[in-house]
Amino acid sequence: MPEKRYLMTPGPTPAPPEVLAAIAQPVVHHRGPDFKQLYAECLERLRQVFRTESEVLLFGGSGTGTMESAVANLCSPGDRVLVVSAGYFGERWASIADAYGADVDHLRYVWGEIPSAEDAAARLAEREAVALFFTHSETSTGVVSDPQPFAQLAREAGALSVVDAISSLGAVPLETDAWGLDVVASGAQKALMTPPGIALASVSPAAWERSAIATSPRFYFDWERTRKGQATLDAPVTPPVSLVAGLNVALGMLLDEGLEAAFERHVRLGRACREGLKAMGLELFSPDDDSSAVVTAARAPEGVDSGELVLLLRDRHGVTLAPGQGELKGKIFRIGHIGYYDVFDITTALAAVELALIELGADVERGTAVTRALEAFERTPV
Ligand SMILES: *Cc1c(COP(=O)(O)O)cnc(C)c1O
Repeated sequence: MPEKRYLMTPGPTPAPPEVLAAIAQPVVHHRGPDFKQLYAECLERLRQVFRTESEVLLFGGSGTGTMESAVANLCSPGDRVLVVSAGYFGERWASIADAYGADVDHLRYVWGEIPSAEDAAARLAEREAVALFFTHSETSTGVVSDPQPFAQLAREAGALSVVDAISSLGAVPLETDAWGLDVVASGAQKALMTPPGIALASVSPAAWERSAIATSPRFYFDWERTRKGQATLDAPVTPPVSLVAGLNVALGMLLDEGLEAAFERHVRLGRACREGLKAMGLELFSPDDDSSAVVTAARAPEGVDSGELVLLLRDRHGVTLAPGQGELKGKIFRIGHIGYYDVFDITTALAAVELALIELGADVERGTAVTRALEAFERTPV
């Protein structure tokens, strides 16, 4: 019998069988009526999940593609932008803006720190910028920041707010319109429970105005071409039709559960994961509070390389966790709990970590993690 595999990373994430079944349907033509109906429904559901009245643009591409689209459509070469980063993905904003010739002011924190809105406001007061780029859920560290103060300070300084919500959308609260977020960049392969390949961006009226004057070259990720196509349900390029069918089902499931109920589930999964890891005697790297509802990061115990732990988990137990990225390589491992997850996924991950750590010779507390996780999941209402 083939070994059972458990995908427990913060992206890609497992897709529900209903989503996979929709993707397995015969391919439809993207200019025919079958697709148009599906496309319209999916775009409408996206607006509900983003909580916006604005158009949500849908591209075939990875999450980074939609980040690049934000830079290409908002910036002209030489424009000053402020990037606030505290991890691997925040730094990606700086790399992309730099590649497009923007004048990047980089407010860079040590990975794992929580960026401060006051610092960002001070930077913008010193040096004006056309846009502020930041990260809602920094998947490399497990830190989820509150986007609201950043959006507000950007607005007060006359800058657009652009947020990477690739791992947060659908997992933790995000109010595109109510919080005044100009651009929300996301992807479908994380909390939206769809196999990789769809990139998403919501664009506010102010961001549309900016994009009309921004001169960076763009074609595939040109927002205006995509908006025009979506307005008549006639995409400018072939969309990933089968993935759109899957995403539409996934969004339906999420909206049926209710966004608030989904957010609560993620908080409880985070609690279960943290309590289980601590019960083993491990030290958390991500914050030990309910903001850590996307991914839980823990330090590997003394003498254990976290990369080795992740490999052993995969090879011996079929469990895929995420290692540390960049400067956290070898030091931390990450358990994703977004999308199609329940508490038994957490207990499976914890049980496997416990076995693997024992095998690696670490001194961990045996037999308590699963119980503590289940208790933490049940115990207190959110
Ligand atoms: C996954 C992720 C990305 C990158 O998405 P890709 O689809 O791999 O391009 C960017 N930012 C955050 C916060 C992520 O979690």
